Amino acid sequence: TVYTPSPNRYDSMEYRRCGESGLKLPALSLGFWHNFGDLTPYEHMKRLVFTAFDNGITHFDLANNYGPEPGSAEKNCGRLLREYFGHHRDELIVSTKAGYEMWTGPYGDFGSRKYLLASLDQSLTRLGLDYVDIFYHHRMDPNTPLEETMGALATAVTSGKALYVGLSNYDGPTLEKATAILDDLHVPFVINQNRYNIFDRTVERNGLKETAKRLGKGLITFSPLAQGLLTNRYLDGIPADSRIALDPRFLQGSALTPERLQQIRELNDIAAERGQTLAEMALAWLLHDDTVTSVLVGASKPQQILDNIGAMRNTEFSDEELARIDEISRR
Ligand code: NDP
Repeated sequence: TVYTPSPNRYDSMEYRRCGESGLKLPALSLGFWHNFGDLTPYEHMKRLVFTAFDNGITHFDLANNYGPEPGSAEKNCGRLLREYFGHHRDELIVSTKAGYEMWTGPYGDFGSRKYLLASLDQSLTRLGLDYVDIFYHHRMDPNTPLEETMGALATAVTSGKALYVGLSNYDGPTLEKATAILDDLHVPFVINQNRYNIFDRTVERNGLKETAKRLGKGLITFSPLAQGLLTNRYLDGIPADSRIALDPRFLQGSALTPERLQQIRELNDIAAERGQTLAEMALAWLLHDDTVTSVLVGASKPQQILDNIGAMRNTEFSDEELARIDEISRR
């Protein structure tokens, strides 16, 4: 089959600058953590990426270990890019990461120069690309000097294998130190990737959000729907086609405590008052924040991508709504 992207794909998506950099990302980006491994039919992946790109979602986010099996999401993405996006490479921002365990032995994990540069080469091979747009260090490594890890990111850029670099799962103080090193090395470090959603406020407490804003860096938020909890998915039990039922590696039924369900129901009521679904409100709540560059959503179905784009229709919140959301999430 030939894929002809919608000619209207840039008509309604909003693009936001990563901090003070020149790079813009779509307000919604598509993550490949789930639903792009070898358990998902290729035809289904095609429908997900076509739906995304047809609607202006120009950013696909990957990591070396996304699967299952680790590496398979990059391989599948590479096949999609080769078969359907050959003429559109320059319209896409493809990111990948290294920092979690990827291969056995002492060189396949954390933050050494040895690991990061080998992993980037492996990622490029799987993706079938000469370069990625953003290469991230995936998590802080307390046992490797920050200079070494940042130096590896600098080499990724000077070797032409990455255009920009990012940091994921860093906290405010480490971000600040890393930025000073990257500035010295003249590395285009533009974005942080952290978990942030109505339920998980870590970045508000660990200095990451404040520091990113002050240093003029972007913030792309992962698991903005708390893996599906901040949607109507689990209001009436666990659907057979849900992440909890199908792929509970990182989200189990035990997350659905009575207290959690009560919070979800009350948030759902606020969303309904606003004329939104809970998923729309959860994404709008992040997009309302001017530190947030993009919300990085997962989707098991094309329709979820379309529904999530609907969040952009209303990202205004009254102080009273924000206070109620805060109060519910604090419980
Ligand atoms: P989300 O919080 O967006 O959860 C996605 C899940 O929510 C979907 O699989 C689907 O669940 C459900 N969902 C999505 N849209 C809707 C909707 N409109 N209505 C109802 N349910 C919906 O994000 P993820 O946790 O998937 O993370 C997103 C991306 O962030 C990843 O793919 C990855 O790129 C990145 N990430 C980065 C990490 C890092 O350390 N840097 C860690 C984790 C993620 P269902 O399957 O049940 O349909």
